[in-house]
Amino acid sequence: MLRVWAEVLTRDPQYLQRSIIMKLTITGYSTALFSTWYFVEELGLLFDAGDGITAALLQKARKIDNVFISHADRDHLTGLLQFNQLNAREGFPKIFYPFNSSSFPAIETFSKNFDPHVSGTTWKGIKENAHIQIKDDLYVQSIRNNHVPAEKDVFKSFGYQVYQVKNKLKKEYAGLSQEEILQRIAEIGKERMTEQIRTNILTYSGDTPVDDPERWNNTKILIHEATFLGEQELNHANTHRNKHSNLEQVLRMVSRLNIETLILGHFSSRYSNEEIDRSIRTLCDQLKIKIPVYRVLPGEVNRNILAGEPINNTI
Ligand SMILES: [Zn+2]
Repeated sequence: MLRVWAEVLTRDPQYLQRSIIMKLTITGYSTALFSTWYFVEELGLLFDAGDGITAALLQKARKIDNVFISHADRDHLTGLLQFNQLNAREGFPKIFYPFNSSSFPAIETFSKNFDPHVSGTTWKGIKENAHIQIKDDLYVQSIRNNHVPAEKDVFKSFGYQVYQVKNKLKKEYAGLSQEEILQRIAEIGKERMTEQIRTNILTYSGDTPVDDPERWNNTKILIHEATFLGEQELNHANTHRNKHSNLEQVLRMVSRLNIETLILGHFSSRYSNEEIDRSIRTLCDQLKIKIPVYRVLPGEVNRNILAGEPINNTI
């Protein structure tokens, strides 16, 4: 094992330094009020489980191991029942949700009574900054957002970040031969020769107002909600109900952050596709946003979002 490791380092010293960002296949549906879910195929991950998720994914839903629900609004969770009864198997799926959302224990109980033949699923409430390991080198972290007003120690609404962890050879050991590396490993141990690099490869905002941009900084791919195009609807909605974002606020925020790719969703169905696309293009031009911006239009399943053309001008 050590020899293999040393060989890799000698052959390709950059190997462990590169953060290996695979091209992710992200499929999603996201329309405010009706349903939201995003499936990340390579990671076996589902963010939110709105109505229709299983009908859209068919057998591919079986690839989902871990489900992270952002909050208990019905458009984010009513697909759980069918998804679970078709896909439950020993130890999977693992369903995670904000610790203080009582809707989930209620669904768990209902699901167990309604489908007593179904077993294997784990349901787990998590607090903010929880680290959930989903692969050897990947974990998901819960990030509190302010969609649902709640006291500091009450957890009702999350975004989620996916981190990749790689071990990088420390600078002082770069350039050693395979034999030298093996010798050093024997002397001081592998751990002391390397340092950990964490890369935020993907972030899902959940439903959220734009209030703490730093939370979303330095992510490779940001999936963010943009429920409204204009300020007026936003003000009206945010005084009466849980809080949302509008497109201009999101793009203004993104223009100041270090993000490589943006996916916008959760648009209100009051807007036409043309209105949404025109607004995105106009604002991206105004704000000089050159990173690729994709969008999930109301009422449509978007398959492999990142394989499509960005909606804005990226040159
Ligand atoms: Zn929603």
